[in-house]
Amino acid sequence: MTFSRRDFVKTSVLGAVAAKVGAPAALAEFPAQDHAAQGSAPKRPIIICANVGYPFVEPAYAFLKGGGDTLDAAIRVVKGAEDDPNIDTVGLGGLPNEEGVVELDASCMHGPTRRAGSVGAVRNIKNVSMVSKAVFDHTGHVMLVGEGAERFAVAVGFPRENLLTERSRKIWLLWKEFNSDRDWWGPGMADPNWHPPAPYSKPQAELWRDRIEQLRRRAAELGIEPEFQMAAVRRVLFPPTGTIHCSALNEKGEISGVTSTSGLAFKLPGRCGDSPVIGAGCYTDQDVGSAGATGAGEENIKVAGAHTIVENMRRGMSPQEAGMDALKRIVRNYNGDMNKLHYMDMTYYILRKDGAYAGVCLWEGYSAGHPHKFAVHDGTLRSEVATPLLKGYSQEWPPFPAIPEELKKDSEYLK
Ligand code: ASP
Repeated sequence: MTFSRRDFVKTSVLGAVAAKVGAPAALAEFPAQDHAAQGSAPKRPIIICANVGYPFVEPAYAFLKGGGDTLDAAIRVVKGAEDDPNIDTVGLGGLPNEEGVVELDASCMHGPTRRAGSVGAVRNIKNVSMVSKAVFDHTGHVMLVGEGAERFAVAVGFPRENLLTERSRKIWLLWKEFNSDRDWWGPGMADPNWHPPAPYSKPQAELWRDRIEQLRRRAAELGIEPEFQMAAVRRVLFPPTGTIHCSALNEKGEISGVTSTSGLAFKLPGRCGDSPVIGAGCYTDQDVGSAGATGAGEENIKVAGAHTIVENMRRGMSPQEAGMDALKRIVRNYNGDMNKLHYMDMTYYILRKDGAYAGVCLWEGYSAGHPHKFAVHDGTLRSEVATPLLKGYSQEWPPFPAIPEELKKDSEYLK
């Protein structure tokens, strides 16, 4: 490797992080889009989902309106994302674990029959949302994981397939080489492009410029398409999260929810996030409503986010208040320490049985101009901006020094 990530971090991360995130965050004051709070009449049928599901909502809504089952409608949205090789946070083409193997998580709840199903760390099966439903359709269990879940999926008719697209494999390889400065991965000293690690005294902007350029060059050598090279660099520097949740409510008031993900990019093999955990990444109660989550899975598991939200609504909170309360529990788990909270984010998608809904998030988004959004269809398909608890933007994990502003202008992808 031509430079050492660890050396770079060692020399400059502490000062930079302290300077960047030391200030306390203010509670955000943004207009609520909580229908109950606004007094506008909620509509049924309705579908809400993470914004990544937007392109797949229209046909699912038509299916729901035509009398289709609520869980089947929600799964139609999620399946669209799972099938799309260009969405690298779900299903086919999802970014793999640290060993280069795609492992998927999913869970669902069917309100009308009060059933739940879930699968975790599943390899080689694309439509894990459907497999999570198959768990309750074909077994008396609720949760299957790992090899057992894969064998179950094959037994009930799902095809085994390679989920690692060439692009995701190359991004993983770039990540592997970039992070392997103490082993033999990546071109060695015999490579004509090899340079010793940059001197510690180099200004931060220059170090960033070097590391981005070298990563981009290596991305080109690995055969990543030119138009995707900077996106690949970004995924290596800041392993992305991303998930799809969808809740659907029909005219009769039946409600269901489903969540599916490839989880954190480059996670440890076997790691399950919140998505397959009933009550964290997904929860539906036919008497009350449905909620789901995307974001920092470990944090969401600790507050049982989706279940907390549904219980809050049961006790009379509006969808937005219910979601804000769950977010405050995450803040409470870190005693409000913004030096830590800045490195996590969470978005909740909340649908009450009467059709009132909300999207809430911990931070406004990842950067100015990129707010957290969610998709809604209640007769009109649209994207709405989620309401943040805290003013400001989350920081990328792992905690590198901030990219200098002048460099951000160099590339759309690094904004
Ligand atoms: N919640 C997912 C997980 O922890 C990731 C995400 O939604 O971004 O696996």
